[in-house]
Amino acid sequence: MNKLVELIVTLLNAILKILKGNKPSLKLPHPEEKPDYNLTVDSINVENLMNEWLATYDVPAEYHSYWKEHCHIIVSKQYPFPAATSAQTQTIYIRPEWANPGVIAHEICHIIWDELPETAKNTFEDDLYNARKSDPLITLAWDTIPYMKTNDIEAHAECYRYVGQAIPDSMKTYYPKLF
Ligand SMILES: [Zn+2]
Repeated sequence: MNKLVELIVTLLNAILKILKGNKPSLKLPHPEEKPDYNLTVDSINVENLMNEWLATYDVPAEYHSYWKEHCHIIVSKQYPFPAATSAQTQTIYIRPEWANPGVIAHEICHIIWDELPETAKNTFEDDLYNARKSDPLITLAWDTIPYMKTNDIEAHAECYRYVGQAIPDSMKTYYPKLF
């Protein structure tokens, strides 16, 4: 009898393994880029960096000039963290090693958040909660990126940074001029 149970368990495990193997694993569209320590304050062209973000995140061409005029990027080592943003002056301070499209995407969102109407800031949490229940990519981001859980502002930035143009329609209203 024990041998039969053992056999069934082995068989079930084998089936489970096959099922798991056949399931395509979901991946975040924009995984975190590694810092590049070869980059320096002088080697980075901020216009190219902005263009790289606009292209990588598929921002509609009609909004490119808006973003280029509205947001300013300063490559600087004055802050100990990868980047810092002054939303009031729409200025992003970014360390050279972190000057990549994903970090720009995150910081741009802080400028956007600052300009959202209060009503939108108040409903974001509920819409994010609903997306976490219904959208596999938002669920994956929430489950795998601990920084998402910091507060609404960081969650707003991280959703766009990792999911980008695949953000569900129900959340696009929180990201004007990005889709
Ligand atoms: Zn942030």
